[in-house]
Amino acid sequence: MSEPILTIRNLRKSFGELSVLKGIDLTVVRGEVVSIIGASGSGKSTLLRCVNLLEEPDGGSVLFDGEDLSDPRTDLRALRERIGMVFQGFNLFQHKTVLENCMLPLTTVRRMKRAEAQQVAEQELERVGMYEFRDAHVDEISGGQAQRAAIARALCMRPEIMLFDEPTSALDPEKVGEVLNVIKALADSGMTMLIVTHEMQFADDVSDRVVFMDAGVICEEGPPSVVFRNPRQPRTKEFLSRYH
Ligand code: ADP
Ligand code: MG
Repeated sequence: MSEPILTIRNLRKSFGELSVLKGIDLTVVRGEVVSIIGASGSGKSTLLRCVNLLEEPDGGSVLFDGEDLSDPRTDLRALRERIGMVFQGFNLFQHKTVLENCMLPLTTVRRMKRAEAQQVAEQELERVGMYEFRDAHVDEISGGQAQRAAIARALCMRPEIMLFDEPTSALDPEKVGEVLNVIKALADSGMTMLIVTHEMQFADDVSDRVVFMDAGVICEEGPPSVVFRNPRQPRTKEFLSRYH
């Protein structure tokens, strides 16, 4: 469990005058579950988006499995396929079935035959408890079910790391638990994960390490027992006090 899959060094990103990431250093090793907490606007999504190549950093480096994302020789398309991402909104096709949504990246990006794609998709839907809803259209299922389908769709690509950006923030409160349970099961299966969340109890349960971001820097990081119950930094204490 000590081989780094992701190495972020002195990562910087601005939008115009606004400096959003001010030198982020973060390493994630294979099998590790790292949660990122912090106030809205602290740069958490921008950090994930730089990892997933949705934003181009202004400085510093991101290495995925030893390959520098900013190196022109790096095959970004191939790298992106190895990184799964789940957003707050589910980004599923509303007019397609759950199964079709999961098969789509396999038949298009992977050019898999339909029968094979269906087999993979059904397997992943089973894993998130959505197999019985495979033929439902996305607009017929609940937000919690849609998010579980979105997780299955990402898993179909057999990613080496899963990035979650507030996966339960858009859900009705009674749907949050079913999605967190799926993510917890994934963590237990050994999946490497970087999770932005405001669910502190969940982060405490699931994480090997918790990172507290504040105004574009990592203010504090450590095991959940320390960050949540014995934080070193006054800013961490102040942030966490809002959740009690
Ligand atoms: P968080 O996810 O922690 O809430 P974000 O990374 O989304 O924070 O945003 C950090 C800051 O960057 C916010 O002030 C946000 O308004 C700004 N920001 C994010 N994306 C853009 C963008 N594409 N253009 C301009 N400003 C942005
Ligand atoms: Mg965000």
